[in-house]
Amino acid sequence: MRKIHRTYKFRLYPNREQAELLARHFGCARFVYNHFLNQRKEQYRLTGKSDNFYAQERSLTELKKQEATTWLKEVNSQSLQFALRSLETAYTNFFKKRAMFPNFKSKHSKNSFTVPQHVSIVGGRLFLPKFKEGIKCHVHREITGKVGKATISKTPSGKYFVSVFTEEEYVTSVKKSGKSVGVDMGLKDLLITSEGEIFKNNRYVKRYESKLAKAQRHLSRKKKGSRGFENQRLKVSRLHEKIANSRADYLHKCSISLVRRYDTICIEDLNVKGMEKNHRLAKSITDASWGIFVSMLTYKAEWNGKKVVKIDRYFPSSQTCNVCGYVNKHTKDLSVREWECPVCHTHHDRDVNAAINILRFGLNHTSAGAVDYTGGEEVRADLSESRSSAKPEAYKSLACG
Ligand SMILES: [Zn+2]
Repeated sequence: MRKIHRTYKFRLYPNREQAELLARHFGCARFVYNHFLNQRKEQYRLTGKSDNFYAQERSLTELKKQEATTWLKEVNSQSLQFALRSLETAYTNFFKKRAMFPNFKSKHSKNSFTVPQHVSIVGGRLFLPKFKEGIKCHVHREITGKVGKATISKTPSGKYFVSVFTEEEYVTSVKKSGKSVGVDMGLKDLLITSEGEIFKNNRYVKRYESKLAKAQRHLSRKKKGSRGFENQRLKVSRLHEKIANSRADYLHKCSISLVRRYDTICIEDLNVKGMEKNHRLAKSITDASWGIFVSMLTYKAEWNGKKVVKIDRYFPSSQTCNVCGYVNKHTKDLSVREWECPVCHTHHDRDVNAAINILRFGLNHTSAGAVDYTGGEEVRADLSESRSSAKPEAYKSLACG
């Protein structure tokens, strides 16, 4: 049994009064964040240092007593403290070089605030401090864990959501299979495995994308601020939401399907993917949301006692022959989907070949155990040899192109 964190996202249907109070919460949380970000910047400019969370927390208490900002008292005080805490986190991430310097929050970006405690969902209603009668909430999934904090948000298209963070004991029903797999993103298909399995791109995403392109063209022709513009802007944000949802849906299915069937899954890390500079490919990377897939795969593997091996070093995975190790340097064009190795004359599908190399590279750089590639005798024999010898360095010395 292990402790896992799970997030549930539900749609909210506030009444008019509640929508107003929510708007005040969004506004106050944003005000606190921006006010204290500005304070820190000013302090730093004048003195070379700035207040930390605890000092700012005291200033916040003072701020609430002042007449000009007494309206801060109308909202849940813990949400304001949480806004300060996220500012602190943003600073920490910046200093640890994990993120850019924090920006001021704009009214036009996503509206949200977090309630750190006293959150509950009972009888189809979300209960928060200051919302005594509860906000109508569409609970489409039963919450099994202990509820912690919750983040309430409003999308640009005007929908309200709550993300409820929970902690629970998790018992996996997924069995060990003794199998390993390499997974790569394909040029034509979303994912391709070292066993030649293909996960096709979600056709709904494609359909919505062409609709989105059209809707955006229409929007650009409308006069800003007009009613027609506002309606079209809503249409565009709804399509964005549809694309994101339908994509996430499909990536959930792909990732759990792999976690169920394989004990070790080898993939290239995001920054390695980013090194493949090619416009077409760059587009398909964002299209397929490799980053989302990797994070889903990672937490699902963790929950179910499986392992994800991330390769964080670049090697020419699609252009290295998985049979003899020859590196095909002639084909720079990444759109070439098939090639034949001039040394051992194996015919390669670019994507499957890459996935096999990723699997091998991943297993070579961990103690993950036996390779269980079942795609063919010849390859299997080679893979068993390769475990001790085939490193990219070894490949390089074989390369004759
Ligand atoms: Zn070869």
